[in-house]
Amino acid sequence: MQQTRTILHGDLDAFYASVAQRDHTELRGKPVAIAFSSRRGVVASCSYEARAFGVRSAMPLFIAQELCPDLIVQPSEFDAYHAASAAIHAIFRTATDQIEPIALDEAFLDVTPVAPSITAGAELAGRFKQQVRDRTALTISFGVASNKLCAKIASGLGKPDGLLTVAAGGEAAFLAPLPVGKIWGIGPKTNARLAEAGITTIGQLAALDDAQAATLFGRWGQELRAMAQGIDTRPIVSERDSKSVSNETTLDADLRLTDIAGAAAILNELAEAVAANLVADGLLTKCVGVKVRSSDFQIYGRQWTLLAPTASSTVIYKAALACYRRWVGEMQAAGKPLRVRLLGVKAAALVTHDTPHQLSLFR
Ligand SMILES: [Mg+2]
Repeated sequence: MQQTRTILHGDLDAFYASVAQRDHTELRGKPVAIAFSSRRGVVASCSYEARAFGVRSAMPLFIAQELCPDLIVQPSEFDAYHAASAAIHAIFRTATDQIEPIALDEAFLDVTPVAPSITAGAELAGRFKQQVRDRTALTISFGVASNKLCAKIASGLGKPDGLLTVAAGGEAAFLAPLPVGKIWGIGPKTNARLAEAGITTIGQLAALDDAQAATLFGRWGQELRAMAQGIDTRPIVSERDSKSVSNETTLDADLRLTDIAGAAAILNELAEAVAANLVADGLLTKCVGVKVRSSDFQIYGRQWTLLAPTASSTVIYKAALACYRRWVGEMQAAGKPLRVRLLGVKAAALVTHDTPHQLSLFR
């Protein structure tokens, strides 16, 4: 039998808003929302004081302001986010290199070798919480479980400043009373279909027989039911194992090809996030690419090989912008009047700081 794993899911509480309240004392105790320049008009993060009014991330700002007229809207401050992200990753790396970052403030860790039981995992998570507080003055919530699904749901349920464990063998019982929407991949559409079939809890989903699961979800049914039963064998995929780091965003409004400045602002933020992930993992990139999804639903990729490996957000941004300009030129030359729906930045050909590399002056 396979050994039970100890998986931690760590997630800083109200990350961007907490950083703002930490660094600007006048914002403490106030309802604060952060809005990114690339997603003007949408709440990227909000303080718990704002949440008390019903404000949530991903909510349009005008609705947030309707719910909370005194809402203070702050711009993003990526330098501070990166510093905090690098600090928490440095703390995590003292225990494991099996770290899968999900966002700047969120990661899965496989700590089985150093914490071979859920109890030991909880002790480690408690230590991490204290170290994160000491070094960043931020609070982080942890879920501790034998798999990613349960760890992720547990960290969310424990917020803020939470530490929630799911006993090995207790996964199905933990999940059973929760709404089906808590399972990854169950969006509003699937949720509605399940509700029609009278299924609202994960426990009801877990109890479906083969035929019912197949009727409702086709080939996906088995996998979904296994998840509902608390069976999730997905491994932690650390950045060291993966061959690239990327970040992408679907735009609020389609971008015209000629709006290079608009694209540049978005690429800049994406490059910042990609660079932060590289820094957090002690990696450098030798190849930067952009991904574009256009109004004709095509996906385009363009990439650029660098002269020297880097984790600099400025270099990544400039390379991404160069790729994007090249793509725009190609589309214009082909007479394609496209609009841009999604932009992504990717760093590939990753190397570690200690990998010997040669600076080629002649390329
Ligand atoms: Mg968070």
